[in-house]
Amino acid sequence: MNPSHEKTSSKQSIGTEMMKCVADLFPLHRSITGDGVRKTFQYLQHFAPVEIHEVPTGTQVFEWTVPQEWAVNDAYIAGESGHRIVDYLKSNLQVLSYSQPMKGRFTLDELRDHLFTLSRDLDASWIPYRTAYFRDAWGFCVSHRQMERLEKHTGEVFDVVIDSEFYDGNLTYGEIEFPGESDETILIYTHTCHPSLANDNLSGIAVATFLARQIEARVKQGETLKRTYKFVFAPATIGAITWLATNKDSLNNIYGGLVLSLLGDQGDFTYKKSRIGDSLIDRAACLTLKNGLSARYKVREFTPFGYDERQFCSPGINLPVGCLMRTPNAEFPEYHTSADNLDFISEKSLEDSLKIVSRITMALEHNETPINQSPYCEPQLGQRGLYRAFGERDDRGRLQEAIVWILNLADGKHDLLEIADRADLPFETIIEAVAVLRQHNLV
Ligand code: ZN
Repeated sequence: MNPSHEKTSSKQSIGTEMMKCVADLFPLHRSITGDGVRKTFQYLQHFAPVEIHEVPTGTQVFEWTVPQEWAVNDAYIAGESGHRIVDYLKSNLQVLSYSQPMKGRFTLDELRDHLFTLSRDLDASWIPYRTAYFRDAWGFCVSHRQMERLEKHTGEVFDVVIDSEFYDGNLTYGEIEFPGESDETILIYTHTCHPSLANDNLSGIAVATFLARQIEARVKQGETLKRTYKFVFAPATIGAITWLATNKDSLNNIYGGLVLSLLGDQGDFTYKKSRIGDSLIDRAACLTLKNGLSARYKVREFTPFGYDERQFCSPGINLPVGCLMRTPNAEFPEYHTSADNLDFISEKSLEDSLKIVSRITMALEHNETPINQSPYCEPQLGQRGLYRAFGERDDRGRLQEAIVWILNLADGKHDLLEIADRADLPFETIIEAVAVLRQHNLV
């Protein structure tokens, strides 16, 4: 599986490339372990330097244990004529993730406890996504239409096969690091354990990967990053716990971070704050959204539900890590169903999500607390050439405004995020103004 982007990237929009990445990864059968995840990371290596880490089955990570690997070769429910009514080979959602193996003949009544369906008010063709992690269970996820077909054959005996295996292996996670001038680290985390679902986890994977590609391009062009960037791609819950346990001693370096998920749908952005509530990432994300691509966005307080911000914001760890989504988990009908497919996400949403995440991380990277080198009233900006500095640019008024705000608040007590917020100016304008002030030795 090779992405065909390499020769055509200059012609395609980045949203088109991101969509192709999602489409290529969509068929792979990912779970919390296994080859689907490895193949996903190997594919991502075409875009960004993902380092693959393997943590052996049985490794103790805080209170948890890395599980055995799981693989499925085939799974189906067939009627007496041999025709498959439920067929894993047509959709990897049909088998309960981490299902125990099973082979036997069952009546529908005997099967019912092992069939998982969606609520009746959803589309009859949708298949749910369900898992059996850390418990012994076997079963199938079926649509109501499939259920009706099974019911038509009530009285018959069905052939049931789940050809799955469990074996000692590894939990696989991916990491990319771009060292900066400072060890202070900007963390981007996304989960990688969902099979054929587009918005829930592939959109986050694509945004993280393409952001890493952009940062790699900056480094290759000779730019020195101000802070270190770290990207982590890992299965939800057990992967985040494994990564945190493995990196326990360097967590103090985390300056701010984002869990990325659900970034391909058409909904407004939703930022869920870190448990700290007013940490650097909370301020950077809120500021960026305020000056963002759309006037409509939501900010929510932290709750111990949702994605892996649960682990990053747990006692003893309590990192400045928030979560960026569009429509939050479980708040759209397609969530965890086969309708979370390629049609549910759009190139534009992926591309706009990348823009916002890139701006939030740039704000974290460039944040600093400036000190005015010419205090005691305002310096003479005209005499220092600061009015001419912006030429005839359309936004020179805003840049001059930014200069006045920075000089006023640069007393060592206010960082650039706060200055941008109080000035009600985009962070990018503030960074540019700081650069000009620095050239003139004013900060
Ligand atoms: Zn999910």
